[in-house]
Amino acid sequence: CKMDKDSLVGSSCDVTFTEINDINHKIRHDLLSLVHSDFFKYFKLNLYKQCPFWSDSNGYCVNRACAVDVIEDWDQLPEYWQPEILGGFANESVSADKARDDECAFLDQLCDKSFAQKGQKGPDIEYCDVEDFDHDESVLVDLTANPERFTGYGGEQSSQIWSSVYRENCFSMNETGQSLAKDAFYRLVSGLHASIGTHLSNDHLNTETGKWGPNLELFMLRVGNFPDRVANIYFNYAVVAKALWKIQPYLSHLGFCNAYHEDVKSMITSVVSNLDSKIFNEDLLFHDDISSKLKDDFRSRFKNVTKIMDCVHCDRCRLWGKVQTTGYATSLKILFEIDSDDEDVKQTIVDKLTKYELIALFNTFDRLSKSIESINNFEKMYNDSLLTA
Ligand code: FAD
Repeated sequence: CKMDKDSLVGSSCDVTFTEINDINHKIRHDLLSLVHSDFFKYFKLNLYKQCPFWSDSNGYCVNRACAVDVIEDWDQLPEYWQPEILGGFANESVSADKARDDECAFLDQLCDKSFAQKGQKGPDIEYCDVEDFDHDESVLVDLTANPERFTGYGGEQSSQIWSSVYRENCFSMNETGQSLAKDAFYRLVSGLHASIGTHLSNDHLNTETGKWGPNLELFMLRVGNFPDRVANIYFNYAVVAKALWKIQPYLSHLGFCNAYHEDVKSMITSVVSNLDSKIFNEDLLFHDDISSKLKDDFRSRFKNVTKIMDCVHCDRCRLWGKVQTTGYATSLKILFEIDSDDEDVKQTIVDKLTKYELIALFNTFDRLSKSIESINNFEKMYNDSLLTA
């Protein structure tokens, strides 16, 4: 894509594309190890939650035609490549065994879990429904066994989801700061959309050879030919990176149950110590009292985006949609709600993060980091293709 890599990512980010590429190169290895650790690889998801926005009387979409249109000759393809299989979960990667979670047999709990104290209702600072993680019907899913990749999900259903997501960006207030907030909201959802497009192009099924691998043509069609979409992935990277930077001093206070996970703590430190506060300046968005109403609007609209994920019919897409919208919601909470100078207040907000918000936050960062790595690989493939053309 034609973009100046030494220009600033823009919208409150005092950092260039090249600088983000360099940071990403440094942290990629440790971040990958981190999200493969036992603590970070399980996410909790309520698969049975009803879509709250439109009547889903058809229930799960059993008619393939309504959910899929990205490959034209599905009928000619074998059973194991059908979208119901590609978009489903890997065998034995889903567990409803609540006891395993409660007793922290394999999912280590943070020891001083002063957070998640029920019944203490303060002002709403949530950008997603954190109660979902406590729901009886929620199951644990192993993220590493269900990578985000091409699933064949498409057609009217996925378009409906995307247009509902973009419709949330219709702020009606007429106040200063609105355009900055609107711009940030748009960049967040477009960056999520572009990141998903990058993953499905990077880990794509070639139905002629049966092999999975990068599909340059598809990447160009979905993302590469649109410099603004690429830039929005970098913008999202900056937002999540700043949230991680901001909570780092308060994470060291949390103890993990066993020595094994002390390793996790040092991995977190080695990732976050490469981040820089100038990567994103959240203070430019909601900086005065006038904008606090706008912030409420922003919060409730973003919460809707996370709820729209319950309308996604492809399980694997829904899983990653939920992980990433929760990761952004957590970042926004950290950036916009931890605005006190009081160290104790900051520590309390971080202590109240649930384990699954933390898991979503780091996995979302990993998804963006992987997208940026893939964009750089696609760029090399593109340049090579010009040389051989
Ligand atoms: P879509 O991607 O559906 O886009 C619709 C329209 O939005 C486009 O025509 C374009 O005008 C506009 N648009 C596209 N990208 C952007 C952007 N970045 N910014 C602004 N506007 C844009 N498929 C998979 O194979 N694997 C997955 O893991 C997966 N996860 C998904 C998760 C969610 C939550 C959703 C809603 C869909 C997911 N999908 C996934 C489906 C995928 O996102 C596409 O919807 C599908 O591949 C069909 O693509 P499309 O080219 O028809 O356009």
